[in-house]
Amino acid sequence: TGPVTDAVLGALTHADSVSRLEVRANADTPEDAARARALGAQGIGLCRTEHMFLGERRALVERMILARDDTARDQALAALLPLQREDFTGILEAMDGLPVTIRLLDPPLHEFLPDRTDLAVRLAAAAHPDPHDRELLHAVERMHEQNPMLGLRGVRLGLAVPGLMAMQVRAVAEAVIGRLGAGGRPRAEIMIPLVGTVEELRLARAEAERVLADVAAETGTTLDCPIGTMIELPRAALTAGRIAQDADFFSFGTNDLTQTTWGLSRDDAEASFFPLYLEKGVFEVSPFESIDQEGVGQLVELAIRAGRAINPRLETGVCGEHGGDPDSIHFFHHAGLDYVSCSPFRIPAARLEAGRAAVADRAGTSDTR
Ligand code: PEP
Ligand code: MG
Repeated sequence: TGPVTDAVLGALTHADSVSRLEVRANADTPEDAARARALGAQGIGLCRTEHMFLGERRALVERMILARDDTARDQALAALLPLQREDFTGILEAMDGLPVTIRLLDPPLHEFLPDRTDLAVRLAAAAHPDPHDRELLHAVERMHEQNPMLGLRGVRLGLAVPGLMAMQVRAVAEAVIGRLGAGGRPRAEIMIPLVGTVEELRLARAEAERVLADVAAETGTTLDCPIGTMIELPRAALTAGRIAQDADFFSFGTNDLTQTTWGLSRDDAEASFFPLYLEKGVFEVSPFESIDQEGVGQLVELAIRAGRAINPRLETGVCGEHGGDPDSIHFFHHAGLDYVSCSPFRIPAARLEAGRAAVADRAGTSDTR
């Protein structure tokens, strides 16, 4: 190490010692987890599981979602279970001793289903159309959504596909037990996405608790696995007091919360009219980049207050892109969050910024920069 490296490491260590916010990482592979840890992440705040269902596993997912009967679905789920267990084992191993928040599957459905136009073209072109393809097309058409981002995502998908949540929770529980057996100190948490009402969380939680209890009984182990929710819909923020009754933690999904609060597509807006809005001064900066304190931020503050009033031990964090944005980090510090979670490469800057926010707070200025 040279003098510059030493100075940077010293600044980071100092920042960590004064920060009130922990910095965790958004990571969903053992490699990313290890990278995040090397950069000082104090846990994984968001382990998305969507990518684990793509590639070679896509055919199984298609079968699971479009299954004609319980047996076909159960077979697909049984084939996915060991793969998921392996996914989680690797990540828990990389983060041994630190919390890993695993979010249950939250894809927009169209990413997993075959393209209905391709399927229709293939069927029309075939001299002897495969009856299976015809059935598949009907199933895909039944599930087609005009607005997949507002559709069968997150907890809705988990409640709609029997056995899906149970498979993922079992994979987490078995991975934890495997790591315990290997002498590790796994700390897994289960996170339910896109919750809009406490009823959804209650159903999901009951199923997760049932599976955790089953695995604990089968193996004679005690499993301590907190269950929490994303707060990423305005309705969830507005009813956070009720939701906190069934949540061990809240993690603010500010990407979706910004999208749904503004009614702006997170996938299209930046490319379509944002340049015009920035030019006209409607925005100084994209609300997807830096937290909109006046609107989205108010929902975050309100939810923290209401949630903590019901459950004083409620842990709170943010795992949207804003978790790595310097200005947003100052806001989250003042809002009283416990942690921010961001991409591994943003961790060092986030640690410094969390430290600066704490120093500025003590000095009575909102910002020292
Ligand atoms: C979010 O919505 O802010 C979030 C972290 O979840 P995702 O980006 O996966 O929708
Ligand atoms: Mg989201």
